[in-house]
Amino acid sequence: MNPQVEAVVIILALIACFLVIAFFLIPGMFAWLRRLWSPAFFAWLEPLVFWIDNRRRQEILLQPFPTQWREYLQKNIPNYSLLSGADQAKLRNLVQIFVAEKHWEGCRGLQVTDEMKVTIAGHASLLVLGMSNNFFPRVKTILIYPGGFRVPRDPQMADLSTEGGTMPVLGQAVHRGPVILSWPDIVNPRNEAGTPMNLVIHEFAHQLDMQGGPADGTPLLSSRKLQKKWRRVMKQEYDRLIEESKEGRTTLLDAYGAANEVEFFAVASECFFEQPVEMKRQHPELYAVLARYYRQDPATRWLQHSSY
Ligand SMILES: [Zn+2]
Repeated sequence: MNPQVEAVVIILALIACFLVIAFFLIPGMFAWLRRLWSPAFFAWLEPLVFWIDNRRRQEILLQPFPTQWREYLQKNIPNYSLLSGADQAKLRNLVQIFVAEKHWEGCRGLQVTDEMKVTIAGHASLLVLGMSNNFFPRVKTILIYPGGFRVPRDPQMADLSTEGGTMPVLGQAVHRGPVILSWPDIVNPRNEAGTPMNLVIHEFAHQLDMQGGPADGTPLLSSRKLQKKWRRVMKQEYDRLIEESKEGRTTLLDAYGAANEVEFFAVASECFFEQPVEMKRQHPELYAVLARYYRQDPATRWLQHSSY
């Protein structure tokens, strides 16, 4: 081969390698780097890296939001009607993108309906309403069951009933994988103790936790100062829940959160969105760190619309 042609081929190959690395590794690198430095430094780069996604999303949003979908949000997501007009519009955009981007699959013969998609997308989008450009990029698929299902036993959950190496669950968030949910437990959100719960928020909080690596109860935080405060408050509140659960006391936070720090973050997130006023009163520091992370103040929303 002519040496000049050879040089051009090598340069093109190097450019191709660089593009492959840029598209497949840089989002992961950002997640890793965010552990070390403030994301504010990288925020300006993200639109460049994700510009293709942004363009596709703009096309999705050119479609009108179906009236029926609006009704599903009003019926199945109590938080939706508490939002301001601007936030409702933002949530609808997030829902439209979420529904279009994810792969939806019914299990055990379940037919996935628009109501299921919009309801799940609505709860999940509420979590990231205050964040910018967080569309759960690692979650490609949502699997929906017509009830509870069994998963391989988690060694950290030794107290749950096990059978043949599996345990019963209502939902599961897989690291770099799907979110799996029981539909009846989304539309009838009460656990055995009668505490309000939100299965979708719980599982997607796990996904937020896993955006920076395997779940550890600490999602990607915006500053070192917040990381420091987060560690202190979470440890203190987690220990408090363990103590109160051991003593058999009734707690605002579901006792399931005492299983480990990962579950504690998911349970605290459910409480933050479902019982924010009471959480702010009983756990002001926990409420404050979650409000800073989620960049939302649901307690104020609730107070403005209720008779507390
Ligand atoms: Zn969990």
